[in-house]
Amino acid sequence: MTTVDVFLTNCRLADGRLVDIGVADRKIVIVGEGAAPASSNSAPALDIGGDLVLPGLVDGHMHLDKTLTGLPWMGHAAGPTRISRIETDKTILPHLPLSTEERAGNLIRVCVAGGTSHLRTHVDIDLESGITKLEGVIAARECYRDRVTVQIVAFPQSGVMRYPGVLDLLDEAVRNGADLVGGIDPLEIDRDPKGQLDGIFAIAARHGVGLDIHLHEPGEMGLFNVQEICDRTKALGLVGKVTISHGFCLGGVTERKAAEAAATMAEAGVSLVTHGAGGLTMPPVEMLRAAGVLVFAGNDAIRDTWSPYGTGDLLERAAMIGWKADFRRDNQVEVAFDLVSAAGARALGIGDYGIAVGAAANLFTITASCVAEAVAAHPSRKLVLFEGKIVARDGAFLAAPIRIASDFVA
Ligand SMILES: [Zn+2]
Repeated sequence: MTTVDVFLTNCRLADGRLVDIGVADRKIVIVGEGAAPASSNSAPALDIGGDLVLPGLVDGHMHLDKTLTGLPWMGHAAGPTRISRIETDKTILPHLPLSTEERAGNLIRVCVAGGTSHLRTHVDIDLESGITKLEGVIAARECYRDRVTVQIVAFPQSGVMRYPGVLDLLDEAVRNGADLVGGIDPLEIDRDPKGQLDGIFAIAARHGVGLDIHLHEPGEMGLFNVQEICDRTKALGLVGKVTISHGFCLGGVTERKAAEAAATMAEAGVSLVTHGAGGLTMPPVEMLRAAGVLVFAGNDAIRDTWSPYGTGDLLERAAMIGWKADFRRDNQVEVAFDLVSAAGARALGIGDYGIAVGAAANLFTITASCVAEAVAAHPSRKLVLFEGKIVARDGAFLAAPIRIASDFVA
C-alpha cells in the first residue's frame, strides 16, 4: 500500500480530469479519480475545490542581481543603447541601500508567490565587482533553498576579451558555486568571437558544466555566432547542455535561413530561451519547436536597472510571449505555457517534473478552467507547494513553509 501524508482532493488537471493527488515525503505518490476515498489511508485531505492544479513554473532567464524589487521606485536611468545599460549598472548597483542578497531575496519571494519552483539567473561577473554579486545571489539561494531551486550562470555582461582577466573570473565563479558559464555577443561586444567562445567553452568543458550565452546580435551577425556556438557544442561533447538566450537574429532573417539555423541547433542540442522582448524581433517559436529545438522562456529583467517592467509572474510572461507571437487558439496558448513549465524543466535538467506519480510535489492551484485561461487571465495563485509544503497562499509568500496536517484549514 502506498503511504500518503496528505491528499489534495478535487484537483482539475490540465487535461480536464478531476482527480485526487496524494503526496508523501515531498513527492507525488498518487494521481487518480476518487483516489482519496478509495485509499485506506487516514491522511488529511485538502479540498482544492475544482481549481486547476499545475506544476511549479520554471523561469529560465532572470537577473536576480540587478533587481530593484523592495526599493522605492527609481526611474529608468540608462540611455537607449545596450552599452549604456551595461555602464549604468556599474554606477547604480554598488550604491543601492539594499545588498545583492537582499534584493535577490526580495525577488525570489515574489516569484515563489507566483508559483515559480525553479529558476535560472545570470549574475554579472566583471573586473569591477569580481564575484561579489555571485556570492550575494548564492547567499539568497541558500536562504530560500526550501522554496525554490536556483541555477546560476556566471555572466560576463561587460564582455570577455575586451577586459583581460574576465576569463579567470568566470573560472573562479564556477569554482565558487556558479552552475553554468555565460557569454555575450561575441562580435558586437568583444569583436572577437573566436576568442570569447573558445575561452568560455574551455571553462565549461574543464568543469563539466553547461553554457548559457546572451545573443542579442541581429541578422547575419547573430546567425554566424549561432553556428559557432553549435560547432563548439558538438566538438566538446556538450550536446544538450548549451542554451542561447534571446537569439533575436532567428526572427530577423529569411525563413530559409532561420530554418537552417534551427536544424543546426536541433542537431547540436542547443536550446533557446526567449522572453518576448519588446521592440525587438521574436524568434519563431513554433517553427523552432517543430524543427526539434528545445525552446523555453523566462522573465529576464524584472523591475531593475534594465527595465521598469516585469512582475516576476511567469503566467503573465507566457501571456506576453503569446501576445507577441500572435498565439490565439488554446493549443497555441498552451505552447506559451509549456515554455514556462515542462520545456523549461527539460532545459534546466529537472527530471522529477510534472503532476505525475514520482514527481516532486511542486505545484500551484489557480482559479481557471483550463491552461489557456490560466495564462490569459493569470489570476493570483491560491496555493503554491514546494516539495509538498505550502510556500505561498493567495498570492502572498509565507515566511515559513506550512506542512499540511489534519487540522489544516485552507
Ligand atoms: Zn538576460
